[in-house]
Amino acid sequence: MAATGGHWIKSAKGSLDFRPAGGQPQRERITEFAAHDAALIEGTRRHGKEMGYIIFADGTVSKEVTGGQSSISTAKLRQVTGLQSTEGGVFTHTHPAHKEVPSTLSPADIAFAAYHNLAEIRAVALTASGKVKIYSMKRGPKGWPSPSEIKYDHKHFTRQLNARARAVGMGDAEWYKAHEVYWQEYAKAWGLTYEEHWQ
Ligand SMILES: [Zn+2]
Repeated sequence: MAATGGHWIKSAKGSLDFRPAGGQPQRERITEFAAHDAALIEGTRRHGKEMGYIIFADGTVSKEVTGGQSSISTAKLRQVTGLQSTEGGVFTHTHPAHKEVPSTLSPADIAFAAYHNLAEIRAVALTASGKVKIYSMKRGPKGWPSPSEIKYDHKHFTRQLNARARAVGMGDAEWYKAHEVYWQEYAKAWGLTYEEHWQ
């Protein structure tokens, strides 16, 4: 991702506001947000914990939140979002490196996006050797499937995948890749936009 032109302004309330060079904040440019992603990656590399931040619908950015090794609790998130609505916002968080293969968005991530009616959820996934892959799911014209539907469908998929893995044997790379393909198909079926790219 190219660095975006502009600068950050610390607001009176302590949040960071991004001002693109020569214009008002724009959603497309804000979601690129490479500078902040880099800080998040740094932190996650250092302590191995998930980190995240929310870009609210009005373009302001929350403080960073640090979670556990595989999740960020809702209570911790509430500490940084306060009473501000997360509807229409963009939540970005890291997936710490567990293996050489990066892990895509989890069903809990997508269900979280649906529950809060976010515009987008992003995961910045690290690999053991330090590579970074960005995953993103954006809300579709018809919104999100329900959180329970998202979790139910994914559970069904995982059960089938694991059965196949036991039957024919499956390496990490193939198992993780299957999850990426699952979201690609899921996005198509529900009119969502799923993207992934190596940084
Ligand atoms: Zn996640």
